Amino acid sequence: MQPSISSERDPSAIWAACLDTARTALPPTSFDTWLSESVFEAIDGQQFLVRFPNEFAARWVKEHWGEMLQASLRESSGRQDLRLVCVGSPAPPVAAFKAQPAPQPAARMSFISPSYTFERFVAGPSNQLAHAGARAAARDPGSPSHNPLFIYGGVGLGKTHLICAIANEIRRTSPDRRFLYLSAEAFLKLLVTAIMNQTTTELRRQYLEVDLLLLDDVQFLAGKEGTQDEIFHRFNELYQNGRQIVLTSDRPPSEIAPLQERLVSRFQSGLVADIQPPDYETRLAILQLKTRDRGVHFPQDVIDFIATSVKKNIRQLESVVNRLFAESTTRGVPVDMQMAKNAITTVIGAQLQLVTPPTIVAAVAEAFSVSPAQIRSATRRREVLVPRQVAMYLIRELTDLSLKDIGNFFTGRDHSTVLNSIERVNSLQQADPVFKRTIQELMNRLTG
Ligand code: ADP
Ligand code: MG
Repeated sequence: MQPSISSERDPSAIWAACLDTARTALPPTSFDTWLSESVFEAIDGQQFLVRFPNEFAARWVKEHWGEMLQASLRESSGRQDLRLVCVGSPAPPVAAFKAQPAPQPAARMSFISPSYTFERFVAGPSNQLAHAGARAAARDPGSPSHNPLFIYGGVGLGKTHLICAIANEIRRTSPDRRFLYLSAEAFLKLLVTAIMNQTTTELRRQYLEVDLLLLDDVQFLAGKEGTQDEIFHRFNELYQNGRQIVLTSDRPPSEIAPLQERLVSRFQSGLVADIQPPDYETRLAILQLKTRDRGVHFPQDVIDFIATSVKKNIRQLESVVNRLFAESTTRGVPVDMQMAKNAITTVIGAQLQLVTPPTIVAAVAEAFSVSPAQIRSATRRREVLVPRQVAMYLIRELTDLSLKDIGNFFTGRDHSTVLNSIERVNSLQQADPVFKRTIQELMNRLTG
């Protein structure tokens, strides 16, 4: 292993920049589940090694987003020869199921960042109720005043941070309590695997054993009937046994559609708390906390400028701090206003460029539970036909690409295939309102 990188940036900062790009390009659930725990490991000749908490995650990332990450790796390092290699840790990640001798299935799916604690969460008017509810759920799990706890709010406003803070707090203060943290997406995947392996009884037993069920991003359940049934039953069992349930979502229960009415009413039956974008003072406090965490000092005018410019998304605030930190350490110069302006343009600009063919394919792949590679491949397997047509349709709707360019983006397609696909999606939308809504939701998500 030799530190042979030719660019002046240090490799950790290069990987941080790749993650920044991925963070804006991918749905938050995917990013949190698969990429948030990855760390730069080493450079070995042309290989840029990145370590993931386990083999499974390493393979998943390589398969789904390898191409995109490789491209941003080359861009941010300035080295066209670098190859991304994803490796898994031999040691199990922070287990989601506590006090279990061997890692359970969910433990392999869900990561809890140790830095998502109450101490590192800035409470303010915009998140007061959610913060208080989360604290109460950690202190006194199962009490009817906050059970279930349903937290909702826009992207990057701290929902995952808060729900993980409950987990970290329980781990610290009540090590005998068992909790399970996972995203609704991971819940579905575990269920599907269990059905295939005929181990649903075992899986259900595991859910029954927890004192707290922490379920992130339940908006993902929209339209997934079977998973909704399963959640409904697990919810009832836990609730009747006085166990705490915490749910997060990007919208209130009544707006998750289609979601069974009985689940809407269950989700609303305890404490429902929303998180709004932070006000100026809270943004300042968050910036102070993040710079202190990093051990850096930003001049006050820079802090003020960032707090005034980045308003809607705390993840973006953090990205700006990370970029400035990386740039000032690699160049060995203090942070100044010009640097801050550039960083803000990059972070906010990156979001504007969200709608590209790869991100559209990634979103469609997720919505239809197939892989982006399959969508772009030449395979004629039935389950990818509709997703591929949808991807072509959305690329046509949302980008400036010509029919020919779109065809080239997919393996071995010409402009007439693309045209047929678009017509087919149009007629499917007319015939099927559920399909139409799916398309609409995808559009909203991509342009959101
Ligand atoms: P969401 O799940 O709502 O999309 P996250 O919980 O992932 O958002 O938050 C995005 C980032 O912003 C995280 O790194 C988190 O630590 C940070 N963050 C969000 N809210 C706060 C807050 N009130 N105080 C400190 N950091 C925050
Ligand atoms: Mg989240």
